Amino acid sequence: MTPLKVLAPIKVKYAEKVMFTKKVLFVSSEVFPLIKTGGLADVSGSLPSALQNLGVDIRILIPGYPTVLNQLSDLQSIGMLNNLPVIEHAELMLGTIKDTQVKVMAIKSASLYERDGGPYSDVHGEEWPDNALRFGVLSKVAAILSGAQTPLQDWQPDIVHCNDWQTGLTPAYMKLQENTEAKAIISLHNMAFQGCFPSEWVATLGLPASSFIMEGFEYHGQLSFLKAGIYYADAISTVSPSYAKEIQTAEFGFGLEGLLKTRGSEIKGILNGIETDEWNPEIDTHLIKTFSASKIAGKKQVKSALQKKLGLNNDANAPLLGVVSRLTHQKGLDLLLPNMQYLLDAGCQLALLGSGENVLESAFLTIADQNPGRVSVTIGYNEPLSHQVMAGCDMFIMPSRFEPCGLNQLYGLAYGTPPIVNATGGLADSVIDTNRITIKDKTANGFVMAEVSAEALLACILRALEVFNDETKIWRQIQKNGMSQNLSWDKSALEYLALYQSLS
Ligand code: ADP
Repeated sequence: MTPLKVLAPIKVKYAEKVMFTKKVLFVSSEVFPLIKTGGLADVSGSLPSALQNLGVDIRILIPGYPTVLNQLSDLQSIGMLNNLPVIEHAELMLGTIKDTQVKVMAIKSASLYERDGGPYSDVHGEEWPDNALRFGVLSKVAAILSGAQTPLQDWQPDIVHCNDWQTGLTPAYMKLQENTEAKAIISLHNMAFQGCFPSEWVATLGLPASSFIMEGFEYHGQLSFLKAGIYYADAISTVSPSYAKEIQTAEFGFGLEGLLKTRGSEIKGILNGIETDEWNPEIDTHLIKTFSASKIAGKKQVKSALQKKLGLNNDANAPLLGVVSRLTHQKGLDLLLPNMQYLLDAGCQLALLGSGENVLESAFLTIADQNPGRVSVTIGYNEPLSHQVMAGCDMFIMPSRFEPCGLNQLYGLAYGTPPIVNATGGLADSVIDTNRITIKDKTANGFVMAEVSAEALLACILRALEVFNDETKIWRQIQKNGMSQNLSWDKSALEYLALYQSLS
């Protein structure tokens, strides 16, 4: 008798497929794992995949950077794109992301995208001088694909989902030139970056001069990609409910709050999820030991390995504070600097991974030099180390001045590393402060600062330290509360789907 084969359980990620027959084009300048500089890539990698799992016919459009073309499977040319600004022609490629099977269309143009360096800047960090053209072409191609001039006969989107300023001109091109039936959505991931360029670009990008006005894409005499997106899109979303409200105020709207206010009630805030195949302590291949809410012991081994790897004293009891971040004013890590001595005197260690502004990089490097064995600072971008810091640390520090959604605090929750955050944007929507009530009802999952200041950050960390040092049971409960939350894309993908449905 042939032995019965034991089949691995089939992983059903989503309970049901939905009836949604419209085609969606998801346009983004970065998509994980093809290319990433920040959270936008994480969203652009995960959301299309989650929507596809729900049964949505979705394709991504991205510039054909060399790393993108090299990583796509089954890459083939599917048509020529004509009438593009300056470069006239480009080739449209179609491939698949191996892990998710999501289809990606990449714009192949050697002169625009095939360069060393990052998606926005060269190897020295200098922004490409022709970014207006590089992302103007991305925007134009998205619009072409939705209109009568498309080279694709068999796949035309009903919805074009744009993301951030790099795709902001798409709704303008769609409305003003391509005369398309398709609807445009723009998702705002960070209002701080708007893509403003000198007015000469209006003509160069083939945009109508008549729309270079306040009721169009003009912003203080410049061409604003993001304003164009907000002005011409049929729907607007942001990456958290709190941020949807905040961007309608002068403090967070970066000058576009007036325009956003006129569309206030339409702006939909949908909190990002996390990619649970990538960010999951139970299966994370970057860790020497996996762990979970019910088997948390492995986290100790990960902490010990991290301390060893980073040259920190191998002390299981020293509270290890973690940071993985762009080092910019937005992220508020300057507020940690004046507190470092106090925290080190209290027995803490710091593991920081990040890069950004020189002043911040050198300030943290100096502290690391002065405190060997207690402070480790790694300047650069390092995906495996980011997982190890997230998993090995005891608490995650994220005092952002503003944070549209933030992913790292969600990773902190998933990895039993309670986040310490400022109450803004997505941080306010995802981190529940520890107090008597939230301990009792088992919702506490982190610590929230009373205001944005160095003093408030210190007070917040000290509150966390008190629980960590003295109340192990409560600390375990806080970890467990975060780790047992459903942080996946399931819920958010359904909300995006509802937004698409509302446009049909
Ligand atoms: P933002 O997009 O504003 O930078 P988010 O918290 O939304 O902030 O997302 C940041 C993403 O980039 C996360 O996936 C984070 O782990 C990652 N990241 C940031 N800095 C680094 C770094 N130096 N090395 C590795 N990953 C990083």
